[in-house]
Amino acid sequence: MSARNDSCVFCDIAAGTIAASIVHQDELIIAFVDLRQFHPGHTLVMPRRHLQDVRELDDSTGAALMATVVRVTRAVGAVFPNEGMSLWHSIGEAAFQEVPHLHIHIHPRFRDDDVLRVYPSAPATPGKRERDQYAVRLRQHLEQALVDEKT
Ligand SMILES: [Zn+2]
Repeated sequence: MSARNDSCVFCDIAAGTIAASIVHQDELIIAFVDLRQFHPGHTLVMPRRHLQDVRELDDSTGAALMATVVRVTRAVGAVFPNEGMSLWHSIGEAAFQEVPHLHIHIHPRFRDDDVLRVYPSAPATPGKRERDQYAVRLRQHLEQALVDEKT
């Protein structure tokens, strides 16, 4: 995996070749004001390295990313009007990931603003037995992933 993708606008921002309104930067992480300001304060936080989504994060970059997300979320919440905030990360076109360079959105929210509608209709609410089966499948996958990491 390369550190930089030549056709990635967020890599250009990280490299400084595209000007952005920088909120924070250090050797691993950069935060900047999003072009779209549905509510003032919409900010993005991302690793400098070109990683497509959270699944490609190593633990130290992930910890640095989350620490910056926490600090910038406090700042957005303190500086810009809001009644709450949403954080989100989209993976893939089906989830409307627009730039394939991992980034976390921090967005001020107001009641009934319709910025994010999580469910287009009432979701299924399977019983505990089915949810337990989902958990078993995930635990098995996590255990196998740990084994794979060690080999
Ligand atoms: Zn990139």
